[in-house]
Amino acid sequence: MLSAVVLWPWHLNGTESSKRPVATQGVVAMIQEMTRQASLDLLARTHLCRLACAQGSQPYVVPCYFAYHKNSLYSFSTVGQKIEWMRANPLVCVEADEVVSPQEWVSVIVFGRYEELPDTPEYQCERAVAYNLLQKEATWWEPGYLKTILHDTERPLVPVFYRIHVVQITGHRATP
Ligand SMILES: Cc1cc2nc3c(=O)[nH]c(=O)nc-3n(C[C@H](O)[C@H](O)[C@H](O)COP(=O)(O)OP(=O)(O)OC[C@H]3O[C@@H](n4cnc5c(N)ncnc54)[C@H](O)[C@@H]3O)c2cc1C
Repeated sequence: MLSAVVLWPWHLNGTESSKRPVATQGVVAMIQEMTRQASLDLLARTHLCRLACAQGSQPYVVPCYFAYHKNSLYSFSTVGQKIEWMRANPLVCVEADEVVSPQEWVSVIVFGRYEELPDTPEYQCERAVAYNLLQKEATWWEPGYLKTILHDTERPLVPVFYRIHVVQITGHRATP
């Protein structure tokens, strides 16, 4: 499906209620739905996402590195809020994109399911897949494994491998 949209930069005149479009600054972009394969291809070539999880009615979004493999996003962390929330509610949403300009970008949204890959005999194969994917970029380990001190409590450095199964994916592409 193809649709033409006008992307308006909103002109702020002091208050929110005074937002109005400025015709002279309008730019036109075509927004097109991407196929499932094109959306998965974006996941395969990009590695930074926004991962959203929820506790009750409260959403929580964090930037995260991942590696895509066979319909799943693999990542690594230490135990903190997002891991605790995803353990309690495995339904998550992931956004990834490539932005060239306001008129030229691709963006995908995944509705997915969190699965932890614990250090147990039955998960050794999946953990090896995750390790091999993630170790290709050594620096990715740093944000997930940084020693964190919050509220005077040092976070234990317990490594957690996990994957997000892609349940549903949509992609949009904007072109000038
Ligand atoms: C480019 C980039 C890539 C990253 N890649 C990874 C990765 O692959 N794996 C990984 O585990 N982490 C990664 N991080 C760090 C990640 O965004 C989280 O900060 C980190 O995982 C801690 O999340 P948590 O829920 O365990 O936080 P906790 O330490 O439990 O969070 C406590 C509170 O700190 C605040 N907080 C947490 N994270 C952030 C944040 N990023 N910005 C602002 N406030 C925050 C929130 O208010 C939260 O409620 C990355 C960060 C960046 C910027």
